[in-house]
Amino acid sequence: MMAQLIDGKALAFLKKQETAEQVKAFLNQTGIQPSLHVLLIGDHPPSRIYVQNKKKACELVGIHSVVHQLPFDVTQDDVLNLIRGLNVRQDVHGILVQLPLPQHLNTQEILETLHPKKDVDGLHPYNLGRLLMGKPLLVPCTPQGCLQLIQSVEKNIQGKTAVVIGRSLLVGRSLAALLTNYDVTVTLAHSKTKDLKEISSKADILVAAIGSPEFITGDYIKNGAVVIDVGINRVELEGGTSCLKGDVNFKEAATVASFITPVPGGVGPMTISNLLINTVKAAQLQSSSS
Ligand code: NAP
Repeated sequence: MMAQLIDGKALAFLKKQETAEQVKAFLNQTGIQPSLHVLLIGDHPPSRIYVQNKKKACELVGIHSVVHQLPFDVTQDDVLNLIRGLNVRQDVHGILVQLPLPQHLNTQEILETLHPKKDVDGLHPYNLGRLLMGKPLLVPCTPQGCLQLIQSVEKNIQGKTAVVIGRSLLVGRSLAALLTNYDVTVTLAHSKTKDLKEISSKADILVAAIGSPEFITGDYIKNGAVVIDVGINRVELEGGTSCLKGDVNFKEAATVASFITPVPGGVGPMTISNLLINTVKAAQLQSSSS
């Protein structure tokens, strides 16, 4: 039997509608329009597209957004000073630093400079610590999106087994903590994991966040598993064109899994809808503490 598609675009659309309602209600109650400031550094073409999409999504739900386009050779001090300025501005609720940054910049220091309550990507050590403690405040957007996609087809995930492949803070490591908070038994795999195929083919839920096109073939997947493909890989085709591929070989996986996300149209749209959710949450947090 063929797997059913988990439609991230459709779910993200519903989440955006809910967020638009929340923005309206918040504005009515407080007179405050949530606002997101994005730092885009250099001229990394995918980052430019991601930021454009985030700005469009903000407009759609009524969040005010500002993009700070900084040159590739901006200094660490200039970035930190911009963030410090935004941290203290009452009309700025969310700050997002679009990653990856140019190599000369210290990403860790930049993320640690963000005000934790404005850290809408959830990557400040305070937010990651809260996630690890099972008391999350602002949760990283992509892992939160993966969880929502899983829950949209599997109502009760307590006691299920999951293998998450990839241990970046942005995705795999944070998702492993998040799923653990929902009583899932999680194995976090990476490039040094031995017998990956054997381990992953036992999981009820398989998440691939590797960055390697179609790495996960059918034999990595348990019969009837839920498969979440986080990977976004641009693959060059003959004739100078290109296309996007996930980390999962969709054709093969679809013959084994029960549910599977497509690329594009799976995790990507959920990442953006969770950025909007986090921006509203950040505005609420700041208005309740002021
Ligand atoms: P990353 O920081 O490069 O991390 C990749 C992870 O995959 C690392 O932990 C690495 O292990 C592991 N890995 C690499 N080769 C492996 C192998 N052969 N077997 C097992 N594990 C392996 O990447 P990322 O930022 O997490 O992103 C992963 C993918 O998701 C990328 O395609 C990215 O574009 C995509 N992404 C999508 C969204 C979205 O919204 N859909 C958001 C973020 C990222 P080591 O730690 O041992 O090196």
